[in-house]
Amino acid sequence: MSLTNSAYIARDAKVIWHPYTQMLNARPPIPIGRAEGSYLFDLEGRKYIDAVSSWWVILHGHSHPFLVSRVTEQLKKLDQVIFAGFSHGPAIELAEKLLQLLPANQEKVFYTDNGSTAIEVALKMCLQYWFNKNQPRKKILAFRNGYHGDTFGAMSVSARGAWTSPFASLLFEVVFIDLPTAENIAGLKAFISGISDSLACFIYEPLIQGSAGMVTYGAMELDQLMRHCRSSGIFMIQDEVFTGFGRTGKNFAADQLQEQPDIMCFSKGLTGGMMPLGLTTCSQEIYTAFLSEDQLKTLFHGHSFTANPLACAAAAASIDLLLTAETQAHIQRICANHTAFAKTIAGHPKLKEVRQKGTILAMEWAVPGGSSYFSNLRDQLYDFFLEHHILMRPLGNVLYILPPYCISDDDLSVIYHTIHLALEKISW
Ligand SMILES: *Cc1c(COP(=O)(O)O)cnc(C)c1O
Repeated sequence: MSLTNSAYIARDAKVIWHPYTQMLNARPPIPIGRAEGSYLFDLEGRKYIDAVSSWWVILHGHSHPFLVSRVTEQLKKLDQVIFAGFSHGPAIELAEKLLQLLPANQEKVFYTDNGSTAIEVALKMCLQYWFNKNQPRKKILAFRNGYHGDTFGAMSVSARGAWTSPFASLLFEVVFIDLPTAENIAGLKAFISGISDSLACFIYEPLIQGSAGMVTYGAMELDQLMRHCRSSGIFMIQDEVFTGFGRTGKNFAADQLQEQPDIMCFSKGLTGGMMPLGLTTCSQEIYTAFLSEDQLKTLFHGHSFTANPLACAAAAASIDLLLTAETQAHIQRICANHTAFAKTIAGHPKLKEVRQKGTILAMEWAVPGGSSYFSNLRDQLYDFFLEHHILMRPLGNVLYILPPYCISDDDLSVIYHTIHLALEKISW
């Protein structure tokens, strides 16, 4: 019996439509049969290092035994239950655990099942807050080039470009501003002041814009912007869907900021990457604005799989694991390895910039005519690393490493070495 890759690829091609994929001429997908730690194994036993944590979700490594046992235990007790009118231990335990780690003003947890819906809920909370208060604040402020997901609300507050252009006329109006710098911060504040009466909220990816190409910016400037929003009564939605759970070197980007957001969004690493889950946390002030004898002030939002007990159990276990001295040491080890490696490629003529934020290391390749997601360089890099049995998924001309925390020093070295090799071999 042979379950070869090619047999699966043929079956896949007959029935599957893949995400973010031009199906006409896409490379055949690699069928994965098994994963363990930082490795993916295809059906013929070929091993790949998962250097992007399977789209930024895997935290402690694939099929981590601790998470597997906690989810298995939960599976035997309670698989799923409606979350309106009912509750369950895993959801309560996870909310208690998470709130303890977040800024002190975060008081309530609203569950969903992915990052985009966590964002939708955050936007609805802010917009309906002002609706419930009978005040006409309807506009949303966001950073240019941000990414908050693929549902309509999330798309609206994200970068407008090739991905969103078919829907451009249906996306709601958003006020976009540049990332803050020491130079432009005064101008940004003045601009916000001019329209603050109409702004319901400000949504942002803290410290690093992931999909934009791992674009980093300063905590000090963000703090200044947050302080300004606070003083203007503009709610802040901190999208930690990507940055949460150790990626930036601290448990949350919030741990690197002085100011506290009103609302926070989580998904991706929330369950250690094992199960789909999203959640939105908020302050007491937001929550209180929905308490009313008037039924119309209710937050009418929910999903069938809201607070799935298995996903909540995975998330609680993942947080337990994140807080161990061992995982914290892994995170610091990855940060230090990245920093040392970054020095060896800094100033390389083929690189425009090397950026690091904690466990995330990005290398922006210098390409004539600027960057493009569709650049041929991107495909060359993608193929080159796969040929070397490493899964990297460049964002245009930005190559990045985002490993699970269990990755060994040896495997990091293999990745670094292969990057040196790519810098030598690949041109455009
Ligand atoms: C991935 C991502 C989202 C969307 O999450 P999905 O689960 O893919 O819908 C939202 N915000 C940020 C910052 C992300 O990186």
